[in-house]
Amino acid sequence: MPGLPIANPANAARRIAHPSDCAEWGNERPRIVVQEQPSQGGIYAMQFRTTTALAALLALGALAACAPADGTAAEGADLIIHGGPILTMEGDAPAYVEAVVVDDGKIVFAGTEAEAMQLKAGGTEVKDLGGKLMMPGFIDPHSHFIDSLSLADRVNVSAPPVGPASSPDEIVATLTAAAKARGLKPGELFVGYGYDENLMPAGTSLSRDLLDEAFPNNPVVVIHVSMHGAVLNSAAFSQFGYKDGMPTPPGGVILRKGDTQDLEGLVMEAAYLQAFSALPLPTPETEVAAAKAGQMLYAEAGITTAQEGATHAAQIAQLQRIAKAGGLYIDVIAYPFLTDIDKVLEANPAASWGSYRDHLKIGGCKITADGSPQGKTAWFTTPYLTGGPSGEKDWKGEPGLPVPAMLAATKKCYDNKLQVLIHGNGDAAIDFLLQAHEAAAPGDLSADRRTVCIHCQFVRPDQLQKLKAYNIIPALFTDHSFFFADTHILNRGLKQTSFISPMKSAIALGLRPTNHTDAFVVPIDQMMTVWTAVNRTSRKGVAIGPDERITPYQALQAITVNAAHQYREEDSKGSIRRGKRADLVVLSADPNKVAREDIKDIKVVETIKDGKTIFPAS
Ligand SMILES: [Zn+2]
Repeated sequence: MPGLPIANPANAARRIAHPSDCAEWGNERPRIVVQEQPSQGGIYAMQFRTTTALAALLALGALAACAPADGTAAEGADLIIHGGPILTMEGDAPAYVEAVVVDDGKIVFAGTEAEAMQLKAGGTEVKDLGGKLMMPGFIDPHSHFIDSLSLADRVNVSAPPVGPASSPDEIVATLTAAAKARGLKPGELFVGYGYDENLMPAGTSLSRDLLDEAFPNNPVVVIHVSMHGAVLNSAAFSQFGYKDGMPTPPGGVILRKGDTQDLEGLVMEAAYLQAFSALPLPTPETEVAAAKAGQMLYAEAGITTAQEGATHAAQIAQLQRIAKAGGLYIDVIAYPFLTDIDKVLEANPAASWGSYRDHLKIGGCKITADGSPQGKTAWFTTPYLTGGPSGEKDWKGEPGLPVPAMLAATKKCYDNKLQVLIHGNGDAAIDFLLQAHEAAAPGDLSADRRTVCIHCQFVRPDQLQKLKAYNIIPALFTDHSFFFADTHILNRGLKQTSFISPMKSAIALGLRPTNHTDAFVVPIDQMMTVWTAVNRTSRKGVAIGPDERITPYQALQAITVNAAHQYREEDSKGSIRRGKRADLVVLSADPNKVAREDIKDIKVVETIKDGKTIFPAS
């Protein structure tokens, strides 16, 4: 994996050496003076002056008119970017400027190339886009950043196109080859990820017995594609304290062998927690390097702000250590998981949440009201057409954790004025979210709290109306319309599946939906999220609710301006405007201009965070 990128070292050297650099200017340093020009539709222009000129203006009593509006004043701009269309994401239709000027990590100008070039000094780097598109860096509305730290050590056994394994035998073969390549020692824990029983040939599934045959002497855990469960072999069951005949915990699923109480291999939801919480994390010695490698997975995808979407107390402490050591080069927003909210509050008073420190912010609370529809653990008001994960009849899924605990956590967070994220896939889980909000939100139910319905996939039209009434943000997940929709059609029927992640209906109601990957449930690929929102076509080519298709621009809003709004960062991120962070991404083509079906083939060429290139790594 690449190491920490160091942005533009050549430029830094050039600045030091250049005769017009500030060291040579003495008291005559050029300064940028920002002046508002409202007539240009909110885009601001700047004029280049010297302190001498400023002194003259001061003498004339005109300083107030010319002083930097936001304190921006530096020895020339750091960076001017031009030479390609620059999509600002300001407004409700695509709008472009010719050039952007960056200084001290912020956008100080967006407008014409001629005006931008007036701000060029000797030390200014000029970047030519060569006709490629630049736009605001992508903001990830929901994923699990912490998983990126351990992903490098784990084996991808996903089905194509995400991974190589189309059958249980191929999963075992992939694991065996990887174990050999890395010289796995007897007794060493071995972890794979991406198993999806729905993509296995009919009548086959990955089991404890299959893994035991290949790995009799190593604990092996193959994490389910939903990340809410795993298949374990016998050594892993024993290491993590599972026993044949053990009862299924409330909110959990344990597959049994035939009619016996013996463990078959797959454990999900609450039954997975004891394995999940015991999986080794990077150590204090390796965590900074692991985080730098993990962030590169985001930077490669054009993401400059990432979410850690369910964080345990020890992981918050770990992220804080990494941040303090200078290990974060994108912004990470962590949401403590409901079981650990008290512990995190003990160490971090509520007043400290919501602001960045060394690129890390504790955003609010995460409450998980159900599981995943593909794992049949999403909680619905109507039964699955195919029964439960263990063959249960009249199976509707169930709450992720006991309802009183989820309600108490919601109330605690609202009482502490913390943002609340509630994961709800099935419509019963979304009913819970609405009821929890009604029960726990103090005062006006529609106050601006930025409460989020994470996934919100099988939301009903009447629930969408309530989300609007309560000012709750739907963080949708249109990637399911490609990756899992064929399974959802079997489990839930075509009609219900067609309304999955209803972007268009949400926008029509005046909601500001976001769209995510839930990485690493599906690959962290923002062009794929745009493609699925625009095309809504399953792996098998079935149209999934074509009425809910949105425009490429609306799909881009979901991962820029709307995502910034979800994080209450709309004043500093999400669009290209003077005063915002210079978080930018360069794409090989403009999603608004290519054929809709080609959007997924657009590549991230460069990612810039706070004015510095973080991908490709230098
Ligand atoms: Zn998630």
